[in-house]
Amino acid sequence: MKKFNKRQRYLVACVLLTCIPLATRSQSENIKLARSNVVQSFQFGEVQLLPGLMYDEFMEIKEYFMNLPNDDLLYGLRLKAGDDNPPGKEIGGWYKKLTALTLNQWISSYCRMYAITGDEACKGKAEYLTDEWWKCYTRLGRKGGGDKWIITLLDLYNYCGREDALDKLSVYIQQTMDTVYRSQDNAENDYAPYTARNTSRHFGDNSNEWYTAAWPLYLAYIQTGYKQYKDFAGFWEYTEWWDMFATQPIKPFTKTPVAGLNTEWVHAYSHINSFNAASEAYRVKGDAYYLNAMKNLYDWMQNYQMFATGGYGPELEHIMPVYRIVQTLATRTDHFETQCATWAALMLSQNLITLTGEAKYGNWIERLAYNAINATIPMAPGTQVMYYSNYNLNGAIKLNRSNEGTCCAGTRPLTVIQYHINTYYHDNDNIYINLFTPSTVNWERGKSTVKLTQNTSFPYSDETEFTISVIKSEKFGIGIRVPEWLTGPAMTARVNGRDIQGKTKNGWFIIDRQWNNGDKLSVTMPMDFWLSVLDKNEGRPTAVMYGPLVMAFTSPDLTLRTSMYNDWWSYEGMLQKNPDKNMLDGIDLRNIRNQVRPAGDQLEFQLSGRNMLKPFMNFDKGELYYIYLDR
Ligand SMILES: [Zn+2]
Repeated sequence: MKKFNKRQRYLVACVLLTCIPLATRSQSENIKLARSNVVQSFQFGEVQLLPGLMYDEFMEIKEYFMNLPNDDLLYGLRLKAGDDNPPGKEIGGWYKKLTALTLNQWISSYCRMYAITGDEACKGKAEYLTDEWWKCYTRLGRKGGGDKWIITLLDLYNYCGREDALDKLSVYIQQTMDTVYRSQDNAENDYAPYTARNTSRHFGDNSNEWYTAAWPLYLAYIQTGYKQYKDFAGFWEYTEWWDMFATQPIKPFTKTPVAGLNTEWVHAYSHINSFNAASEAYRVKGDAYYLNAMKNLYDWMQNYQMFATGGYGPELEHIMPVYRIVQTLATRTDHFETQCATWAALMLSQNLITLTGEAKYGNWIERLAYNAINATIPMAPGTQVMYYSNYNLNGAIKLNRSNEGTCCAGTRPLTVIQYHINTYYHDNDNIYINLFTPSTVNWERGKSTVKLTQNTSFPYSDETEFTISVIKSEKFGIGIRVPEWLTGPAMTARVNGRDIQGKTKNGWFIIDRQWNNGDKLSVTMPMDFWLSVLDKNEGRPTAVMYGPLVMAFTSPDLTLRTSMYNDWWSYEGMLQKNPDKNMLDGIDLRNIRNQVRPAGDQLEFQLSGRNMLKPFMNFDKGELYYIYLDR
């Protein structure tokens, strides 16, 4: 792929600085994307969750974040901008150190909550915080900020109808472009990914994660059509990494990082997230290179990086060979940067569904929905969040990280909100169901509107039912993702109680017929125990699954031998060997079905002695569990 050398970069800088006036909307070209989506996402507001696991979690998150006081959210920024004694109090943690690190993601969340619920308080909060941030940003000489503000301003425009957001965006990106190309000696800004010291764009440099910058810039281009945004996005493309996945056989470990936290392997979240820029580059430019790289990366992640939960990136958040991942199960407690790495994977999977139309990419979304997003314990006051998931085979617990305002506190509401996007998709002729959760969707279809209401107690039942509302009889297909965990007999469907045949296309089980108002479609997806193996060559370690759920062992007789965790949740303070764990030795994972008996209506099972097996997502804060028993 094309790269700028130093001389070319200088020339580009000259062109950018001398020839491009401040972008205005009149400059917008009539944008035509080279690739269009095969299937479409629904918009926020078209899908409503109904009471159930995902709805409850969304409401909990909405309440939590709506209760954060505006003055606290702005305290550090106002102080930095010169206020002697701003109202409110410091949030602290990363929020203080990086001056409102996650404010942009929280404003995005308020915008999206408004788009979903119509709650004016969410809109008001988003607008007030943006206006106040902008005042501080201006007083600070319009320096710093980071690429996430681009998405925030796009959200304000799209979801809150703030016309001025695009003007702010224009100023913001122009400022950023100036900073990159001009300020060879600008050392003031120590965290934005655009500063001059980063333009060398070291491979794998996760001290600044510069390679996440192309994604929002492409989104800004697609929204506005300003060619300079496209060029700027192109400048930040991470082809040095994408190249390794673009052609078979892939070569994932042929380069080592030259800067960053761990110079042996690359940083997990940001390297997966970079592929969301590849996705937009594919839409804009149409080069199959980008899509091939995304597809190959997805498959590789599923086969060689992913824990049973859908999580990835252990040991200070790194992509590494699978043998090393297995080692971390005994030595580490930081197996998955739960919120941020989920966010990157959700967006990648969503992009792959829309660009290919294939249902298989929804499997990762479902695993993460139950074993990462819904497996997260409630946030503590002060924005403390479950940052790492711990899968240590000597026993593990869930805890919120002691720092406030971490990156994962920023992505936490975004991942929960995304249930609304990831439940349904559509093309012209079909509506597709990716997640099985109580909800409604309004599908605007030419002149008609189809409403689907999904009623289910999944995953505690293997059945889901849809009620169809149409003004007059209409022909279309309803496609249900064929889940990766399907066991025994195939999926079956009934319309108004009568068996009906479906056909499978692109991984969707499709019932295509003339639908009448009030029709009911029930679908059964046989669910049972199965095993998820981490190292496929070695045939272990193994986690017990039930449908999409990771099951974890526990017992009131077991204790976790640990002292306090340190900030990074490394193994310090934990015993290498946990003698209590021997009580689980007799469990034959390959014959699990015959060793358990049901003990509750939420997929809890009793084993010999007082040992229990239950969904990982249902473990509370501090409750001991074992996901992997064998190394
Ligand atoms: Zn994070």
